[in-house]
Amino acid sequence: MNRIKLFITRSLSVAALLLTISVATLAQEQPLQIKYWLAMSHPNSHLFEVTIEVPLPADAKMRSLDFQMPKWSPGRYAVFDFAKNVQEVKAWPVCPAGLDCTLPNLMVTRIDDQTWTAELNSFNPAGLSLMFSYKVFANDLSGTFSQLNSRHANFNGGCIFMYVVNHKQDPVSLSIKAPQGWRIVNGRMDKKNQTEWQFSNWDIMIDTPTEIAADWTEDDFNVDGKTYHVIVHSMGSEAGKRPALVRDIEKIVRAETAMWGPPEFDSYSFLIHFANDGHSNDGMEHLTSTQIIEPGALANPGMYEETLDAIAHEFFHVWNVKRLRPIELGPWDFTRPANTRGLWIAEGITNYYGHLMQRRASLWDDAKLLSTLAGQITEVENSAGTKLMSAEESSLSAPFIDDAPHAQQTNLSNTSISYYPKGEILGLVLDLLIRGKTKGKASLDDVMRRMYDEFYLKSANATYYLRGRGYKNEDFEHITSEVAGANMSDFFKRYVRGVEVPPYEDAFAQVGLRFIRQPRLPVSVGITVDDEYSANLKLSAVRSDSPAAIAGLEVADIITNFGGVKLTPANFLKTLAGYKPGDRVALTVQHNGRVVQTSLVLGEPTLFDYRIEEIKNAPAEVKALRTTWMNGK
Ligand SMILES: [Zn+2]
Ligand SMILES: [Zn+2]
Repeated sequence: MNRIKLFITRSLSVAALLLTISVATLAQEQPLQIKYWLAMSHPNSHLFEVTIEVPLPADAKMRSLDFQMPKWSPGRYAVFDFAKNVQEVKAWPVCPAGLDCTLPNLMVTRIDDQTWTAELNSFNPAGLSLMFSYKVFANDLSGTFSQLNSRHANFNGGCIFMYVVNHKQDPVSLSIKAPQGWRIVNGRMDKKNQTEWQFSNWDIMIDTPTEIAADWTEDDFNVDGKTYHVIVHSMGSEAGKRPALVRDIEKIVRAETAMWGPPEFDSYSFLIHFANDGHSNDGMEHLTSTQIIEPGALANPGMYEETLDAIAHEFFHVWNVKRLRPIELGPWDFTRPANTRGLWIAEGITNYYGHLMQRRASLWDDAKLLSTLAGQITEVENSAGTKLMSAEESSLSAPFIDDAPHAQQTNLSNTSISYYPKGEILGLVLDLLIRGKTKGKASLDDVMRRMYDEFYLKSANATYYLRGRGYKNEDFEHITSEVAGANMSDFFKRYVRGVEVPPYEDAFAQVGLRFIRQPRLPVSVGITVDDEYSANLKLSAVRSDSPAAIAGLEVADIITNFGGVKLTPANFLKTLAGYKPGDRVALTVQHNGRVVQTSLVLGEPTLFDYRIEEIKNAPAEVKALRTTWMNGK
């Protein structure tokens, strides 16, 4: 034991005697001033170096401090267990400023799959700071994971920073040491070349994705006194398209702020990557920024339009889900997956407006909007799962269906539906029905604004995390009924909590549109074809209770002969077009390594294509409703 340590121990035992009861109570409530350092000294190692400094309170009873890696992070609901990439954890005490001392490392014990305990009981801690450090491997460019390599560092805090257990609500600071020549940027820049930040709590720190590289570009614009930064890191050719992209992003910002009113920030950053690696593809919402990652180069066909589609969706989240939020979405318990019934609103309705806003921003014409909406209806109504899983149940299943890895085989292709398209079509139908019921006096826009006003702007803060309070689905239902001037509970019972087909015809008729359904094929087999296998027809999914299932076909079976025809993905649809329901067809199938002769009886059509057409002779007032819907007036 060295001199300084003895000194600290002696003075503290006096303090501890005097303050035993009050200090013990204070220590629970007293916030810690937690400081994070992030370094990246060897980018090619893909290892971020994290150090957390915790000044220890004068609490003689504090025997240990727990540090925890979240199991998932907000916006993506699959459980990824970020702790799996943590290595080389250690802890040590540092002496008070001005004092020269040497203290041994502290014992760190991993106590479960996400938690490490630093033991403090070998010395009396007051006046000391605990330093806790580890490395974390990161080599995925995404809205959830992080990447460090020779080109850049791009991090999302949830998979990088542990929180101090029971102190997630405390203020934190972050200091970043970037490699020579690299510049740091995120959605919370107060000045150029900033390297230090203060955050009101850990949740806000991890809501601040950050890009660090030598060669990102920045283009700015202003809308209604707010500054927007478009940060682009291109790994491929831009073909001179960036200036136009920035102008079109501004159109989206104008369209969305026109609906919501001025956003609650001074500046906002679009962090965009054109990864040009063929696979990195994501979009993630944050309070003052978004991360958009496209798999191609901006010069590639379609990449420009895909980027705007992502921008329109993610920017809408500034209001819907980041500030106006289901009660379960912030603050979060990161020891278990989120369970909310509200993702059909938070994500699905955002998807709907993401599309509608591209029309309102004049990036899309009427036909593009209608064909996109018809495409969403086609996706939902042709899925087997939509008949089994409601919008609310889909929301609760998010940990399984939001990009979740599955080690075991699942039947989710038959039993689940994504809350993105399902919520989108419910938002669409609700919007049109409200417009019809109120003769254009109100719409879903009003529902969303009322929700934002009541739950975000005007509610007292319910938690440390953010302004306002979260809503329940019942709140959304209640406000929808109020805005519609009619009791909408039947809609929620049948189409939100139930699995009935929404009243599409009725909804589109409100705005002078006709909804048309046509069978895609005259018959059904009940299989999904593996497009990557071209030699024969390989099954990637078999629908429950379908002709194929009744005939005993399974996933991975290969149909080599279908009624005398050598079947391939290329001639599959043409071949089926020659049959009618009830026809029996002889098959040759490679099944579990054996060649089997069997037959199946073709069923009635189950797959349909949907179209939305203008009713030319609709009354003028109905056409006017359509114009205000599309233009947002
Ligand atoms: Zn980058
Ligand atoms: Zn989203």
